[in-house]
Amino acid sequence: MEGVIAANLAAIRGRIAAAARGAGRDGDAVSLVAVSKTHPASSVAEALRAGQRLFGENRVQEALGKYPALRREFPDLVLHLIGPLQTNKVRDAVAHFDVIETVDRTRLAEALASEMERSGRRLPCFIEVNTGEEAQKSGVAPQEADAFIADCRNRLGLPVVGLMCVPPLGEEPSPHFALLREIAGRNGLAGLSMGMSADFEIAIRFGATHVRVGTAIFGARRQPLAAAG
Ligand SMILES: *Cc1c(COP(=O)(O)O)cnc(C)c1O
Repeated sequence: MEGVIAANLAAIRGRIAAAARGAGRDGDAVSLVAVSKTHPASSVAEALRAGQRLFGENRVQEALGKYPALRREFPDLVLHLIGPLQTNKVRDAVAHFDVIETVDRTRLAEALASEMERSGRRLPCFIEVNTGEEAQKSGVAPQEADAFIADCRNRLGLPVVGLMCVPPLGEEPSPHFALLREIAGRNGLAGLSMGMSADFEIAIRFGATHVRVGTAIFGARRQPLAAAG
């Protein structure tokens, strides 16, 4: 399979550039987060050899098994946590990830703030917004987002850089992307992590700064993990 991942990456990069151009945006303004969950370290290594440096994993434990060895070979790789984070895994998450995209509740924000203080590792954070207000999905409710963002920044001093969302499966994603952009805009946040394999071009039209693409790079996942855990 050597070569397939490199070819997929090249194709996705081309589509990102075209979508950005079509939206009158600079292609460099959109970062590709290659989502490697469930895929082996050998697949990540192929992506690294093809020049990809930014990756996303949704489980702390799985990332711990794969990434420390890859980092020794590629010290400039950057790893985003894109899945739900339990407070008892905060220490490992802060030690092994570079960006936390899924800050979604006060207890977690507090735990992250104190671990960052303790460890001296200040990780940029995205706040996850449950734009579809789905009961089973993580993320802060849209109407609570402003207060939560303010609390994370002002009381806890978290380095909040943007917002992240996973729109409801099978729904037209545009209104969700628009809502995320609106909340980010009124809170002065530049980062917008939105868009996956099926809809990243639409997300780019709505201002995505980070698209999280798994399947279109690494192929189908064997066990279908729920997008938002
Ligand atoms: C798995 C996952 C992705 C990637 O999804 P694909 O459809 O495989 O591109 C993006 N974001 C989150 C939060 C995920 O869990």
